[in-house]
Amino acid sequence: GRKFFVGGNWKCNGTTEEVKKIVSMLNDAQVPSGDVVDVVVSPPFVFLPLVQSSLRSNFHVAAQNCWVRKGGAFTGEVSAEMLVNLGIPWVIIGHSERRSLLNESNEFIGDKVAYALAQGLKVIACVGETLEQRESGSTLEVVSAQTKAIADKIPSWDNVVLAYEPVWAIGTGKVATPAQAQEVHAELRKWLHNNVSAEVAGSARIIYGGSVNGANCKELAGQPDLDGFLVGGASLKPEFVDIIKSAV
Ligand code: 13P
Repeated sequence: GRKFFVGGNWKCNGTTEEVKKIVSMLNDAQVPSGDVVDVVVSPPFVFLPLVQSSLRSNFHVAAQNCWVRKGGAFTGEVSAEMLVNLGIPWVIIGHSERRSLLNESNEFIGDKVAYALAQGLKVIACVGETLEQRESGSTLEVVSAQTKAIADKIPSWDNVVLAYEPVWAIGTGKVATPAQAQEVHAELRKWLHNNVSAEVAGSARIIYGGSVNGANCKELAGQPDLDGFLVGGASLKPEFVDIIKSAV
């Protein structure tokens, strides 16, 4: 079976004091064992060393982005090599906020995922449609094209978790229904089956993000093709622990 995965994307939030409080809350929490669930939290770059050094050892950290190729004269960027140098195991790539606000294209994201994997990072790769795209009936076309742009560039899916995050559900309180999420997850798995391999389709974890909270996580977690969550707002709150517990 696929191990449940719960990611907490803190986005551009937090002060040192707030970060210390969240880490204490996570360190004190009673949660299922690491054999049952992978827990990965993603603070802003500047807090990565603090979280990495103070977080319990069975939880892991992710950066929220990295540069597309080898570092150098790229003011303001952080390279995959630097994350590896710090012992950061994971990176989130292709979040919809970066796609829309920073104009990251499918191709650029595919290149980034490939480069990060080649440096030895594990990647949470995000895909998802806008409300307009959903309403015009192009959801599957959009998420397939986003997934293809990644698949075309990478030699293996072993270290990739695919996050389906419908843009209309992110930060809106409008969570996808379990049926809506399951439908897209099943289609993404079918896409992997037809375009990558049956083995990857069976083993790749596809997680859901968008207004996940302590109250709606359990029913979503029960969907057969949903292997975990990428949590935004609720990952900064005590209910993140309830979301971790939905693994069992
Ligand atoms: P919210 O959980 O705040 O909707 O954010 C989801 C998300 O974007 C996680 O990456």
